[in-house]
Parts: sequence; structure tokens; C-alpha cells
Amino acid sequence: MISHKSQTISPEDVQAVADVLQCDWLTTGPKVAEFERAFADFVGAKEAVAVSNGTAALHAAMFALGIEPGDEVLLPAMTFAATANSVVYQGGRPIFVDVDVESLLLNPGQVEAKLTASTKAIIAVDYAGQPCDYERLRAIADKHGVALVADACHALGGSYQQRPVGSLAQLNTFSLHPVKNMTTGEGGVITTNDAELARKMRGFRNHGIDSDSHLRESNGTWYYEMHSLGFNYRLTDFQCALGLSQLQRLPGWIARRQEIARQYDSAFLASSLLQPLSVRAGVSHAYHLYVVKLNLEKLTVDRTAVFKRLRARGINVNVHYIPVHLHPFYAKKFGVRRGLCPLAEKAYRRILSLPIHPNLSDRDVSEVSTVVLETLEEASR
Ligand SMILES: *Cc1c(COP(=O)(O)O)cnc(C)c1O
Repeated sequence: MISHKSQTISPEDVQAVADVLQCDWLTTGPKVAEFERAFADFVGAKEAVAVSNGTAALHAAMFALGIEPGDEVLLPAMTFAATANSVVYQGGRPIFVDVDVESLLLNPGQVEAKLTASTKAIIAVDYAGQPCDYERLRAIADKHGVALVADACHALGGSYQQRPVGSLAQLNTFSLHPVKNMTTGEGGVITTNDAELARKMRGFRNHGIDSDSHLRESNGTWYYEMHSLGFNYRLTDFQCALGLSQLQRLPGWIARRQEIARQYDSAFLASSLLQPLSVRAGVSHAYHLYVVKLNLEKLTVDRTAVFKRLRARGINVNVHYIPVHLHPFYAKKFGVRRGLCPLAEKAYRRILSLPIHPNLSDRDVSEVSTVVLETLEEASR
């Protein structure tokens, strides 16, 4: 059996959590600030704000940028729904942008084509773990005076032109869900060099209140003020202790993910029935996902059939993602239709994500490659 468990929990992780469970403060205590400092240092940013999940991180980013009704935010059609949802939470309008066919990353040319006077921000998604072309995206954002956000939920541990993911955009959001590159159970982080945006997001995660209860306790006061409509998006101290412990092993896990990707790449090199996504020069890919595109012209069956056959053989394949504008909610609320992002829609019919996580052995990877190739050969024209 090939392991489906993507997270790696060590005895040190367990101990770190257990230690905090014995403390006075289970939440909003010293571990939160300690984790934020370590995370910010890891990605080379001045500030990190820890929140309850990656979706909350995106929502906090949209709040801090002041997204409100009437504002448009450009984002790729090929992403998890949460990227677009974060704009809608603030009353903004997500504008779906098509992707590059080879990498499935936001196409900067298409971004320029969809900018309007109402555009307030661009959310670039580091799909599969490959950082976007931030040099070009920053130039576009600066030229038009809009904010640049990185949805880096896949890309923690990666880099672009020697700069770590987390330091590439004005705001960079991460998820610490167990399937992601490291975990706190549920969890999220936003990194930034902008102290004012960080301050806004720290308020936002705590009901829009200007001080936390521990601070009031130590100052001997009950008084506080709520300045904006925030949420309870806090992350607990024991989760932050797990995060601190996990962060130390992250570089090793990324190296292993990259090794697995190289093994898949070489196994599939000679086959014309599938093609891995392309990787740009200057990129250190974090490989949250390993995505292949099926060459449907050479197959007698569609992607769904291939998916089912692989699942039946115990290979935990998946599909990332249904283009967001095709979801009924978006069709109904914003009137977006099939045909809006043809390249993302075409790619969607062909993509398959293969298992990739540090718990896979070389034998597992070789078995997956063999079964994938066998399954496609059997279905080839
Ligand atoms: C996982 C993910 C999210 C949401 O993160 P959660 O922690 O699950 O809320 C957002 N965007 C992308 C691209 C993701 O992969």
C-alpha cells in the first residue's frame, strides 16, 4: 500500500505540542509571536501574521488592502475556490484571468488585458508550488498602482531568483493544512514587509479589537476598543508550537519533494501520452503538487476514466482544480460562463495530480510511474 498520509509528525512535534498543553495559555500566548518571528525569518520577510487557516490568510490580506464593493481583483481561473472567495467576502469582484498552457500559472499578458480603473489588486497563485513570474507581475502592479498578493499556499519552501517565496509580493499567504508543505493541523500565515498592513491583519484576526486579552490582563485593565469589523481567526499556541517544530524540517521535505519530481520527470520523459507541467529557469519549485497533462489525442478514454482506473489500482491521484468560474456559485453570482478562460478549461480536462509527499519511498514513486504508464499504454490509440 502506498501511503496517502502527506504530513510527517515526529516525536519532537508531539512533545512540543504536549509542552504547551501544560502551560497557562493555550492561545494567543508566547508561541504565536515566536512562530511568527521564525516564519518571517524563514521566508525573509519583516512580518508574519499567524491566522487560523489559509482562507483566513487570504481574507485578512483582502481586508488589509481595503478591498470593498466595486473593487475588482484579478486572479487565475486555475486555483482553489478560496482564492476567489476571499475577494467576495469583502464584497469585491473576482476577475478570472487565463493561465499559461505550459505551467498553468497566471499569464502576465492576460493580467494587463483585464486591468481596469476598478482593479485594486492582483492575486498570483503559485500553482503546484512553482513561484509565478513576480518580476513581471510587480512591474505591472507598480505601473498601474495596484497591490500584488501571492497566494503561496502551495509554494512554501520554494524560491524565485534566489528570493524565498514569502518575500516576493506585498502580501504573501500560506496554508498550514496537513496536505500542504508543512502543517499546524489547520493554520495560515501572511508575510509582508509592511508593518501597517501587518497591524491591520493582527486586529482583523481578533474581532478588530486593538489589544489582546493577555495584554490587558498584564496592564491591569479591562478597557479595549473595536475599530473595525474583524473575525476570530486566531491560531492557538499549541498549533504554533507544532509549526515551530515542523518549520525546522521543512527544507528537507522540499528537497525530497523535488527528488520525487525528478524521478517522475525521468520516468515520463520518453512517453508521448502525458506531459509534466513546465518549470521556468530561476525557479526552485516547492512541488506541493506534481501535475501531468494527459495527451487525450492519443488516448481512447478521457481523464475521468484514467482517474478511475488509477484509483482502482490504489494510486491516490487527484484533480487540481476545477476552474473557479465554472462553479455554480460564480456562474450565478457574477454571470461568468464557460469560455471565459479557454486555456484553463482545456487544461482542466487533461490534468491529473500524482502522489507527492515526503512519506513516499523511491519504490512507491517507481510503482506509481509504472502503473500510470501501464494504464495509459492500455488506453492508447
Ligand atoms: C489550501 C489552499 C487555500 C486554502 O487554505 P486552507 O488552509 O485550506 O483554508 C487557498 N489557496 C490555495 C491555492 C490552496 O491550495
